[in-house]
Amino acid sequence: MTDLADFTARLTALTDGRASAPRIKDGVMTIALDVGGLSPEQRDGLAAAIREGGLTVPGVTDVRIAQTAERKPTAERTPAQERKPLRILAVASGKGGVGKSTLSANLAVALHRLGIRVGLVDADIYGPSQAKLMASEDQKPVARDKKLVPVTGPIGIPMLSMAHLVEPGKALAWRGPMAGNALSQLIDAEWGDAELLVVDMPPGTGDIQLSMVQKHKPAGAVIVSTPQDLALIDATRAVSLFNQAGVPMVGLVENMAGYACPHCGEISDPFGQGGAESAAGDLSMPFLGRIPLAIEIRRQSDAGDPPAAGEGIYADAFHAIAQKVADWLKTA
Ligand code: ADP
Repeated sequence: MTDLADFTARLTALTDGRASAPRIKDGVMTIALDVGGLSPEQRDGLAAAIREGGLTVPGVTDVRIAQTAERKPTAERTPAQERKPLRILAVASGKGGVGKSTLSANLAVALHRLGIRVGLVDADIYGPSQAKLMASEDQKPVARDKKLVPVTGPIGIPMLSMAHLVEPGKALAWRGPMAGNALSQLIDAEWGDAELLVVDMPPGTGDIQLSMVQKHKPAGAVIVSTPQDLALIDATRAVSLFNQAGVPMVGLVENMAGYACPHCGEISDPFGQGGAESAAGDLSMPFLGRIPLAIEIRRQSDAGDPPAAGEGIYADAFHAIAQKVADWLKTA
């Protein structure tokens, strides 16, 4: 048995500083590992060694390693004059509970793994969940020159959420301009050299959403829907909100599409298949892909360990969508 301090010191030596500090919750140790420049064999070897070491820490029953793309120190990055302007990608839905936040978090992680310098804004001010999804609840942003400086969770993505600023439930009393101002502070924060802000929009299509879209002009919008018709009617409303503000559609994602059996992995479709895809066609927008309803996605999300940071079929589903978004951004 090794204690955590011991393991952390060995981890730094073993990975040559490529690993984040380990985080342990409910027996699960999470570590972000920068695998930039390593061969697949080196990655696997390092991950196996970390896993083996992590399991010797008392109380640790599982070790999860989030492999991230290379992040060079700021000085070596693109000089300021070549820096790309910060663009906003809005992730929206016509109503709550369809998995908009889950998609935003995993999309940010998958785009980050593609080497895009992303930041993440939780604009869902009445039900902020990104701090939990990205395991950064214990962090507090500071203000510099009247701008907020984002926090960075274990995966290395800068982010801001109302949950970092106010006690849970407090923002619920905010309406109209106050909510709008709060949102603007999150978006106009000090994002450093980030080139893309993934913005988890408030659910629905009210005034707050419209003024946010008009004021901050996203480069594009991704709409999330579930396969049920009702949710698709709501998705149609979200699409018209962006159309009204002249924001291009990146495409539609179908979440909770089919149920993945936790025992055998087989996917069944209680709501039928293809609804969202044909709805995307009706709305003349691209269909970006589907994410199954899977207990593992929910479990990992609750534990602050986004599936897109790991490997497997759920990670692949998020990565395929992120690749389409990245391709879209290149042409936009
Ligand atoms: P929204 O942001 O649209 O309100 P969330 O992302 O918060 O929705 O998701 C609502 C709930 O559904 C959360 O508990 C989340 O973990 C769960 N969830 C989202 N997508 C999936 C999925 N594909 N499989 C299983 N659970 C999911």
